[in-house]
Amino acid sequence: MAATPAWPPRSTPRLFVDAALAEGPRRIDGPPAHYLLSVMRLKVGDAVKLFDDRSGEWLAVVEATGKRDLHVQLTTLLRPREPVPDMWLCAAPLKKGRVDWVAEKACELGVARLVPVLTRRAVVDKPNTDRLRAHMIEAAEQCDRTALPVLADPVKLATLLRDWPADRALFFADEAGGEPAAAAMRARPGPAAILIGPEGGFADAEREAIRALPRAVGVSLGPRILRADTAAAAAVAIWMSVAGDW
Ligand code: SAM
Repeated sequence: MAATPAWPPRSTPRLFVDAALAEGPRRIDGPPAHYLLSVMRLKVGDAVKLFDDRSGEWLAVVEATGKRDLHVQLTTLLRPREPVPDMWLCAAPLKKGRVDWVAEKACELGVARLVPVLTRRAVVDKPNTDRLRAHMIEAAEQCDRTALPVLADPVKLATLLRDWPADRALFFADEAGGEPAAAAMRARPGPAAILIGPEGGFADAEREAIRALPRAVGVSLGPRILRADTAAAAAVAIWMSVAGDW
Protein backbone atom coordinates (compact mmCIF):
# COMPACT_ATOMS: atom_id res chain seq x y z
CA MET A 1 0.00 0.00 0.00
CA ALA A 2 1.48 3.42 -0.99
CA ALA A 3 2.59 5.46 2.04
CA THR A 4 0.36 8.47 2.72
CA PRO A 5 2.29 11.62 1.76
CA ALA A 6 3.57 13.61 4.76
CA TRP A 7 1.55 16.72 5.64
CA PRO A 8 2.54 19.48 5.38
CA PRO A 9 4.78 18.64 2.40
CA ARG A 10 8.49 19.39 2.82
CA SER A 11 8.15 22.08 0.16
CA THR A 12 5.71 24.07 2.32
CA PRO A 13 6.80 27.72 2.22
CA ARG A 14 7.96 29.34 5.47
CA LEU A 15 7.37 32.97 6.21
CA PHE A 16 8.23 35.35 9.05
CA VAL A 17 5.30 37.42 10.33
CA ASP A 18 6.29 40.35 12.54
CA ALA A 19 3.29 40.09 14.85
CA ALA A 20 2.31 37.67 17.62
CA LEU A 21 0.68 34.58 16.08
CA ALA A 22 -2.07 32.44 17.64
CA GLU A 23 -4.49 29.72 16.57
CA GLY A 24 -7.30 31.05 14.38
CA PRO A 25 -7.80 33.26 11.32
CA ARG A 26 -5.13 35.68 10.12
CA ARG A 27 -5.07 38.09 7.16
CA ILE A 28 -1.74 38.45 5.37
CA ASP A 29 -1.07 41.44 3.16
CA GLY A 30 1.89 43.50 1.91
CA PRO A 31 5.15 41.90 0.71
CA PRO A 32 4.51 38.57 2.49
CA ALA A 33 1.18 38.27 0.63
CA HIS A 34 2.88 39.11 -2.68
CA TYR A 35 5.46 36.38 -2.06
CA LEU A 36 2.84 33.74 -1.20
CA LEU A 37 0.41 34.69 -3.99
CA SER A 38 2.73 35.65 -6.88
CA VAL A 39 5.97 33.78 -6.18
CA MET A 40 4.74 30.66 -4.39
CA ARG A 41 1.32 30.79 -6.18
CA LEU A 42 -0.51 29.49 -3.13
CA LYS A 43 -4.15 28.52 -3.60
CA VAL A 44 -7.03 27.79 -1.24
CA GLY A 45 -6.24 24.64 0.73
CA ASP A 46 -2.46 25.00 0.44
CA ALA A 47 -0.32 24.92 3.59
CA VAL A 48 2.12 27.58 4.77
CA LYS A 49 4.36 27.72 7.86
CA LEU A 50 4.42 31.03 9.71
CA PHE A 51 6.80 32.01 12.52
CA ASP A 52 6.86 35.18 14.59
CA ASP A 53 10.10 35.09 16.67
CA ARG A 54 7.77 35.07 19.69
CA SER A 55 5.53 32.00 20.00
CA GLY A 56 7.20 29.71 17.45
CA GLU A 57 6.25 28.19 14.10
CA TRP A 58 2.64 27.58 13.12
CA LEU A 59 0.99 25.51 10.41
CA ALA A 60 -1.61 27.52 8.49
CA VAL A 61 -3.98 26.64 5.64
CA VAL A 62 -5.01 29.13 2.96
CA GLU A 63 -8.77 29.85 3.18
CA ALA A 64 -9.17 32.68 0.68
CA THR A 65 -6.95 34.58 -1.71
CA GLY A 66 -7.33 38.11 -3.09
CA LYS A 67 -5.29 40.30 -5.44
CA ARG A 68 -3.10 41.67 -2.65
CA ASP A 69 -3.97 39.65 0.43
CA LEU A 70 -4.90 36.21 1.63
CA HIS A 71 -6.73 34.75 4.59
CA VAL A 72 -5.26 31.76 6.41
CA GLN A 73 -6.33 29.69 9.36
CA LEU A 74 -3.55 28.92 11.86
CA THR A 75 -4.26 25.38 13.00
CA THR A 76 -1.21 23.94 14.80
CA LEU A 77 1.81 25.18 16.73
CA LEU A 78 4.49 23.03 15.09
CA ARG A 79 7.43 24.21 17.22
CA PRO A 80 7.93 26.71 20.04
CA ARG A 81 10.49 29.48 19.51
CA GLU A 82 13.89 27.88 19.84
CA PRO A 83 16.30 28.88 22.64
CA VAL A 84 19.55 30.52 21.51
CA PRO A 85 22.72 30.95 23.62
CA ASP A 86 23.13 34.30 25.37
CA MET A 87 25.78 35.69 23.04
CA TRP A 88 26.00 39.14 21.47
CA LEU A 89 27.99 39.97 18.35
CA CYS A 90 29.23 43.56 18.53
CA ALA A 91 30.76 44.55 15.22
CA ALA A 92 31.78 47.70 13.42
CA PRO A 93 29.51 48.17 10.38
CA LEU A 94 31.25 47.25 7.13
CA LYS A 95 30.65 48.19 3.52
CA LYS A 96 27.28 47.16 2.03
CA GLY A 97 27.36 43.52 1.05
CA ARG A 98 29.88 42.50 3.68
CA VAL A 99 27.81 43.87 6.58
CA ASP A 100 24.76 42.13 5.08
CA TRP A 101 26.71 38.88 5.08
CA VAL A 102 27.63 39.38 8.77
CA ALA A 103 23.94 39.93 9.64
CA GLU A 104 22.93 36.79 7.74
CA LYS A 105 25.66 34.64 9.39
CA ALA A 106 24.88 36.06 12.85
CA CYS A 107 21.33 34.77 12.41
CA GLU A 108 22.37 31.36 11.04
CA LEU A 109 25.01 30.83 13.73
CA GLY A 110 22.54 31.52 16.57
CA VAL A 111 23.64 34.95 17.81
CA ALA A 112 21.09 36.40 20.27
CA ARG A 113 21.86 40.08 19.60
CA LEU A 114 23.71 41.94 16.85
CA VAL A 115 25.10 45.31 17.91
CA PRO A 116 26.53 47.66 15.24
CA VAL A 117 29.43 49.48 16.99
CA LEU A 118 30.67 52.80 15.57
CA THR A 119 34.46 52.89 15.89
CA ARG A 120 36.96 55.53 14.76
CA ARG A 121 37.92 53.73 11.54
CA ALA A 122 34.48 52.34 10.66
CA VAL A 123 33.76 53.16 7.01
CA VAL A 124 30.02 53.30 7.66
CA ASP A 125 28.48 55.46 10.37
CA LYS A 126 24.80 54.90 9.56
CA PRO A 127 24.24 51.23 8.79
CA ASN A 128 20.94 50.49 7.08
CA THR A 129 19.35 48.49 9.89
CA ASP A 130 16.18 47.77 7.89
CA ARG A 131 18.31 46.04 5.25
CA LEU A 132 20.28 44.14 7.89
CA ARG A 133 17.04 42.91 9.49
CA ALA A 134 15.70 41.85 6.10
CA HIS A 135 18.83 39.72 5.56
CA MET A 136 18.40 38.13 9.00
CA ILE A 137 14.73 37.34 8.29
CA GLU A 138 15.61 35.79 4.92
CA ALA A 139 18.29 33.63 6.56
CA ALA A 140 15.81 32.51 9.24
CA GLU A 141 13.17 31.63 6.62
CA GLN A 142 15.66 29.60 4.62
CA CYS A 143 17.40 27.89 7.56
CA ASP A 144 14.28 26.66 9.35
CA ARG A 145 14.93 29.00 12.29
CA THR A 146 12.22 30.18 14.68
CA ALA A 147 14.36 32.82 16.42
CA LEU A 148 15.92 36.02 15.08
CA PRO A 149 18.77 37.97 16.66
CA VAL A 150 17.72 41.24 18.26
CA LEU A 151 19.18 44.00 16.05
CA ALA A 152 20.34 46.77 18.40
CA ASP A 153 20.56 50.42 17.41
CA PRO A 154 24.06 51.46 16.28
CA VAL A 155 26.12 52.61 19.27
CA LYS A 156 29.45 54.44 19.63
CA LEU A 157 32.25 52.28 21.07
CA ALA A 158 32.72 54.64 24.04
CA THR A 159 29.01 54.39 24.93
CA LEU A 160 29.03 50.61 24.56
CA LEU A 161 31.96 50.36 26.98
CA ARG A 162 30.47 52.90 29.43
CA ASP A 163 27.22 50.94 29.67
CA TRP A 164 28.75 47.48 29.55
CA PRO A 165 26.78 44.96 31.72
CA ALA A 166 28.90 43.73 34.63
CA ASP A 167 27.76 40.10 34.16
CA ARG A 168 28.81 39.76 30.52
CA ALA A 169 32.24 38.71 29.26
CA LEU A 170 33.54 40.71 26.29
CA PHE A 171 35.82 38.74 23.94
CA PHE A 172 37.58 41.46 22.02
CA ALA A 173 39.04 40.10 18.78
CA ASP A 174 42.33 41.93 18.77
CA GLU A 175 44.36 41.69 15.58
CA ALA A 176 47.31 42.87 17.65
CA GLY A 177 47.12 39.61 19.59
CA GLY A 178 45.53 38.11 22.67
CA GLU A 179 44.70 34.83 24.37
CA PRO A 180 43.86 31.98 21.97
CA ALA A 181 40.12 32.47 21.43
CA ALA A 182 38.90 28.93 22.19
CA ALA A 183 40.78 28.69 25.51
CA ALA A 184 39.70 32.19 26.60
CA MET A 185 36.06 31.51 25.76
CA ARG A 186 36.01 28.06 27.36
CA ALA A 187 37.45 29.55 30.57
CA ARG A 188 34.72 32.18 30.84
CA PRO A 189 31.27 30.53 30.67
CA GLY A 190 28.08 32.59 30.99
CA PRO A 191 26.61 35.59 29.12
CA ALA A 192 29.12 36.66 26.48
CA ALA A 193 29.83 39.07 23.65
CA ILE A 194 32.32 39.20 20.84
CA LEU A 195 33.69 42.52 19.55
CA ILE A 196 35.01 42.77 16.00
CA GLY A 197 36.67 45.86 14.55
CA PRO A 198 36.26 47.52 11.14
CA GLU A 199 38.33 46.86 8.03
CA GLY A 200 40.87 49.36 9.35
CA GLY A 201 41.12 47.74 12.77
CA PHE A 202 40.95 49.40 16.16
CA ALA A 203 42.86 52.60 16.99
CA ASP A 204 45.38 52.26 19.84
CA ALA A 205 43.27 54.47 22.15
CA GLU A 206 40.25 52.26 21.42
CA ARG A 207 42.26 49.13 22.17
CA GLU A 208 43.31 50.61 25.52
CA ALA A 209 39.76 51.63 26.43
CA ILE A 210 38.43 48.17 25.58
CA ARG A 211 41.14 46.37 27.52
CA ALA A 212 40.44 48.63 30.53
CA LEU A 213 36.98 47.08 30.84
CA PRO A 214 37.05 44.54 33.72
CA ARG A 215 35.11 41.91 31.76
CA ALA A 216 37.05 42.39 28.49
CA VAL A 217 39.67 39.92 27.29
CA GLY A 218 41.67 40.33 24.09
CA VAL A 219 41.53 37.16 22.00
CA SER A 220 43.52 36.07 18.99
CA LEU A 221 41.88 34.40 15.98
CA GLY A 222 45.18 32.89 14.91
CA PRO A 223 48.37 34.11 13.24
CA ARG A 224 46.72 35.41 10.07
CA ILE A 225 44.82 38.68 9.73
CA LEU A 226 41.21 37.93 8.75
CA ARG A 227 38.82 40.28 7.01
CA ALA A 228 36.34 41.68 9.51
CA ASP A 229 33.43 39.64 8.19
CA THR A 230 35.49 36.45 8.25
CA ALA A 231 36.65 37.28 11.79
CA ALA A 232 33.06 37.75 12.95
CA ALA A 233 31.91 34.37 11.63
CA ALA A 234 35.05 32.59 12.86
CA ALA A 235 34.85 34.04 16.38
CA VAL A 236 31.14 33.21 16.74
CA ALA A 237 31.74 29.66 15.50
CA ILE A 238 34.54 29.16 18.05
CA TRP A 239 32.35 30.48 20.88
CA MET A 240 29.37 28.36 19.82
CA SER A 241 31.52 25.24 19.83
CA VAL A 242 33.28 25.78 23.20
CA ALA A 243 30.69 27.79 25.16
CA GLY A 244 27.49 27.75 23.12
CA ASP A 245 25.17 24.92 22.08
CA TRP A 246 27.02 23.21 19.24
N1 SAM B 1 43.68 46.81 9.60
C1 SAM B 1 44.05 45.77 10.57
C2 SAM B 1 45.46 45.34 10.35
O1 SAM B 1 45.88 45.35 9.18
O2 SAM B 1 46.03 44.92 11.34
C3 SAM B 1 43.15 44.55 10.40
C4 SAM B 1 41.76 44.71 10.87
S1 SAM B 1 40.89 43.25 10.52
C5 SAM B 1 40.70 43.37 8.83
C6 SAM B 1 39.28 43.61 11.14
C7 SAM B 1 38.98 43.06 12.51
O3 SAM B 1 38.94 41.64 12.45
C8 SAM B 1 39.97 43.38 13.58
O4 SAM B 1 39.76 44.65 14.15
C9 SAM B 1 39.72 42.26 14.58
O5 SAM B 1 38.59 42.56 15.37
C10 SAM B 1 39.42 41.10 13.68
N2 SAM B 1 40.57 40.25 13.37
C11 SAM B 1 41.08 39.98 12.15
N3 SAM B 1 42.08 39.09 12.23
C12 SAM B 1 42.23 38.79 13.56
C13 SAM B 1 43.10 37.93 14.29
N4 SAM B 1 44.04 37.18 13.68
N5 SAM B 1 42.98 37.86 15.64
C14 SAM B 1 42.04 38.62 16.27
N6 SAM B 1 41.17 39.45 15.63
C15 SAM B 1 41.27 39.54 14.28
